[in-house]
Amino acid sequence: MTRKFSGSKLIMATHNAGKLAEIAELMAPKGIAVISAGSLGLPSPEETGTTFEANAILKAVAAAQHSGTIALADDSGLAVTALNGAPGVYSARWAPAGDFQTAMALVQEKLGAAIDRSAAFICTLALAWPDGHVETVAAHCTGEIVWPPRGSGGFGYDPVFQARGESGESGETRTFGEMTSAEKRHYSHRAKAFALMMDKCF
Ligand code: IMP
Repeated sequence: MTRKFSGSKLIMATHNAGKLAEIAELMAPKGIAVISAGSLGLPSPEETGTTFEANAILKAVAAAQHSGTIALADDSGLAVTALNGAPGVYSARWAPAGDFQTAMALVQEKLGAAIDRSAAFICTLALAWPDGHVETVAAHCTGEIVWPPRGSGGFGYDPVFQARGESGESGETRTFGEMTSAEKRHYSHRAKAFALMMDKCF
């Protein structure tokens, strides 16, 4: 049976400032305080899973068990169609020492002259209780890889990802890097997954 969240605080099992800011913004209207695993000095477990779901679960369970508090983890990434879904679960690892200029350039280099530049951002959220119970949801948003990168907003691969609208038609000309966080929320994989998690567990 689906378990519902109870309490007034939640551990966000991430050391990624971009993800933390987006989740804290999404959670703010709920009156739930979001505390990052990083600020509590919790270790980040090694992401040994080969799926977004496996990695989200292992991060959420580790944070819940270390803190004794319900924890939410996000595992997400960019899946480029012509690269058979790469970088996928390795999205963070394509950026040496967090350098996403290099990671974006690597995507562009591997795409080369490919005609199909379609891609998706994928997000799995896992909510874990200290007793080991876990609930998960997943969502994605589709778009195109553009080059050169545009915009200084967001984080990670945002400057090379131009989202498509709900209908799948590409009326949108801005990258996520050129949007405000509220504009990105309109399209984003994370906001969609968050809405699913809210319906399911909150
Ligand atoms: P992980 O979930 O900690 O393995 O890291 C996910 C990685 O995917 C991030 O470090 C980013 O590189 C990328 N990513 C996930 N979501 C986004 C997003 O909303 N914008 C840009 N990059 C993202």
